[in-house]
Amino acid sequence: MVNVPEIFGSDVFNESVMREKLPKATFKALKKTIDNGDPLAADVANIVANAMKDWAVEKGCTHYTHWFQPMTGLTAEKLDSFIQPADGGHVIMEFSGKELVKGEPDASSFPSGGLRATFEARGYTAWDPTSYAFIKEKTLCIPTAFCSYNGEALDKKTPLLRSMEAVNRSALRVLKLFGSDATRVISNVGPEQEYFLVDREMYSHRKDLIFTGRTLFGAPAPKGQEMEDHYFGTIKTRVAAYMKDLDEQLWKLGIYAKTKHNEVAPAQHELAPIYGTTNIATDHNQLTMEIMKRTARKHGFKCLLHEKPFAGINGSGKHNNWSLATNTGVNLLEPGKTPAENAQFLLFLTAVIKAVYDYQDVLRACVATAGNDHRLGANEAPPAIISIFLGDELTGVLDAIVNGYKYEGEHVEMEIGVDVLPHFAKDTTDRNRTSPFAFTGNKFEFRSPGSKLSCAGPNTVLNTIVAKVLDDFADVLEKADNFQDALDDLIKNTIKESKAIIFNGDGYSEDWVNEAEKRGLLNLKSTPEAVPTYLAPKNVELFSKYNVYSETELRSRVDILLDEYCKTINIEALTMIDMAKKDILPAAATYIKELAQTSKLAKDCGADTSFEDDLVKRLSSLAAQTYNKLSALEEAEVKARDINDVETLANYYHDTVFVAMGELRAAADEIETLVGEKYWPYPTYGQLLFYV
Ligand code: ADP
Ligand code: MG
Repeated sequence: MVNVPEIFGSDVFNESVMREKLPKATFKALKKTIDNGDPLAADVANIVANAMKDWAVEKGCTHYTHWFQPMTGLTAEKLDSFIQPADGGHVIMEFSGKELVKGEPDASSFPSGGLRATFEARGYTAWDPTSYAFIKEKTLCIPTAFCSYNGEALDKKTPLLRSMEAVNRSALRVLKLFGSDATRVISNVGPEQEYFLVDREMYSHRKDLIFTGRTLFGAPAPKGQEMEDHYFGTIKTRVAAYMKDLDEQLWKLGIYAKTKHNEVAPAQHELAPIYGTTNIATDHNQLTMEIMKRTARKHGFKCLLHEKPFAGINGSGKHNNWSLATNTGVNLLEPGKTPAENAQFLLFLTAVIKAVYDYQDVLRACVATAGNDHRLGANEAPPAIISIFLGDELTGVLDAIVNGYKYEGEHVEMEIGVDVLPHFAKDTTDRNRTSPFAFTGNKFEFRSPGSKLSCAGPNTVLNTIVAKVLDDFADVLEKADNFQDALDDLIKNTIKESKAIIFNGDGYSEDWVNEAEKRGLLNLKSTPEAVPTYLAPKNVELFSKYNVYSETELRSRVDILLDEYCKTINIEALTMIDMAKKDILPAAATYIKELAQTSKLAKDCGADTSFEDDLVKRLSSLAAQTYNKLSALEEAEVKARDINDVETLANYYHDTVFVAMGELRAAADEIETLVGEKYWPYPTYGQLLFYV
């Protein structure tokens, strides 16, 4: 039996460990740094570093690392041991304040999108004391931000921290007008992490899964997810053992792993933690993904975090449950009980609605990857069109406010700041599941992020766009002679202007695509279409105004995202070429030969060989077709080499290479349905999804 409270956070240098291990004055100084961002004096850093090292060594650590999140969206670490030479050929274990606070990893191999000139390869990592140090694999990990020597962010954490600061400042401005005594506003996120588990042995026979994380070929299994027997169904013993092990490891790292269950697709599961600040929840989600993968190995599984590992069944997302709260414990997206609280709630709600409306493009861009393109707008929820689901009741309330009529649902007149909001239940209808951005009672659930994505990007965007609108609101309200009237007008007018973004219907339907177009909403279907919108003048202005991304930083990110898209499709295309040539066509040929020989022998016996003959013909024709499609894909790949501009190349990969891949797959998948099982070179969908 594990004692959860006892193991929880046992591998974390958290506040109670700090209190225990640090002299009182040092603890106080460090706490001030953590809470208020005050700089840490060198002598204090030395004492903290030494205490951290003693604690880590006691727990068996030999190394430390500055743990950071480069723009690849993964995490990176370079390990250093604590050893220092001492007299007589001995060593002592040492760790200085300088080593704690700043590191200099050789950064030249991380993508910088041209930010770091090659002659200045060294970026540096700087300790983020707001995220606790922890032990992983006998290494003391120090969460850090990663910057160039000019101070440009080379990572995902720095912009996120900047955006948290921005939304804090803007929200406080607004709250002050309501007489709030809050001194800090924090953005929170609870990311729901979806994943697939497949048998490791089977996985090891699939080049596509190994090289690209998704299946590039594969005919559908006789059974898919149509029986709806997996979702919330009994968890298989082997999977349950994995989940238990995973929970325990996450708890040791102070991660609030809370909910686990099967998901809609066979072999698909979900883990949700209790929410935390966007910075720490992001760190924790990165760790969760890493530990999911490592633990899978231990249990003979492979954990697939790809957004669409299998065609024809659901892909995996990372639902980003986002809200704002004060340091006095008020959730600013929680409808209140008094008229004043409600007025405040309505203002914050309106701010989010406007932010999403004004910056649909950036919200779409921040979740754009080659993998996620298989989800968004590809017959799967949510669509690529960004819209907000509020539910019928809350929408009714907003309509009543705008039009100044009675809210029919409960027959009340809603005057902002005077009336209490009519009670509205959290809408849990199925329709909301198809929405990319749903209000779920006291938070917004952004459902577009893909399972593999770092939470940093979406939350950086959410924090920044809401900061902008709140700031604009504060500009208006601070100048107002009559606060109540100004508030009333502001809410009414803002809802009027932004209400095209509100959609409570079925996001899957073709009707919605047409309706959205009529409303003037964007439908950015693919990564090459979505990513460049980051650079629209209004977006460059937004991010530079709040010092979240300078224009140069933004350009570098666009470059990296498009480059990553091209590389992903290129690797997928090359893997398909390899599999078709070396596995699929040879398997077809072997089976054809077997059938042809059988037919000949059987004919000699005077038997009816129509089965063999027909199949030989059909397979030969499909093999020829596959061969043609394969050649076309090879040709398309060769042409890609002549394109230098990354945006043109990304569009080429999308419009030409990706299409050629689809055609090759269609032909090859049909062969799979005709070839005898023992001739087939790798495990099928049926085996991967159901034989666990
Ligand atoms: P669902 O109905 O989507 O399953 P849950 O209550 O299970 O909703 O919450 C899903 C995720 O949302 C969890 O990670 C949870 O911690 C997080 N969450 C709950 N409340 C908030 C909040 N106020 N802000 C941010 N995340 C939240
Ligand atoms: Mg949910």
